[in-house]
Amino acid sequence: MRRGRPPRLRRVGFIPQVTYFKPAGIPLRILDEVHLSVEEAEAVRLKDLEGLEQEQCAEKMNISRPTFQRVLGSARQKVADALLHGKAIRIEGGNFQPALQRFRCFEGHEWEASFEEMVAGPPPVCPECRSVNAIPVHPPGFGFGRGGWGRHRGGRWQRLIWFFLYQS
Ligand SMILES: [Zn+2]
Repeated sequence: MRRGRPPRLRRVGFIPQVTYFKPAGIPLRILDEVHLSVEEAEAVRLKDLEGLEQEQCAEKMNISRPTFQRVLGSARQKVADALLHGKAIRIEGGNFQPALQRFRCFEGHEWEASFEEMVAGPPPVCPECRSVNAIPVHPPGFGFGRGGWGRHRGGRWQRLIWFFLYQS
């Protein structure tokens, strides 16, 4: 099997804290579920909640307009399917990274770096003590090994994390 290039990560400005929606009165064992990725939820948030133009949405997520349209279409289709067919919605995973990432140095100082800084720049340096021994701090509920932090294997983000965790 040929291995393709890892998909480009989508920038996400908001990670929902409530990630499971279930219709009332349907027993879990017969409940169907649709699976919305975090970037699909973000597409709906930007377009339908914030009311931005597709162009702006695509720009905010760091993807092309046709890609945004595809992500949005897929998200709306799933939400409609869940609403009209009484299915649960689970939001998790996907190919994304947060627009802002918090870092913590080994002295316990915390600060935030932007998506652009993380992708382009050198490893983050603590603004307080200038230490380069910093690790990313994940938002609540999105720790390692739970599948909630997106599929980052092979991506730049994954390499950044390994770099921060395993540099001496
Ligand atoms: Zn520090």
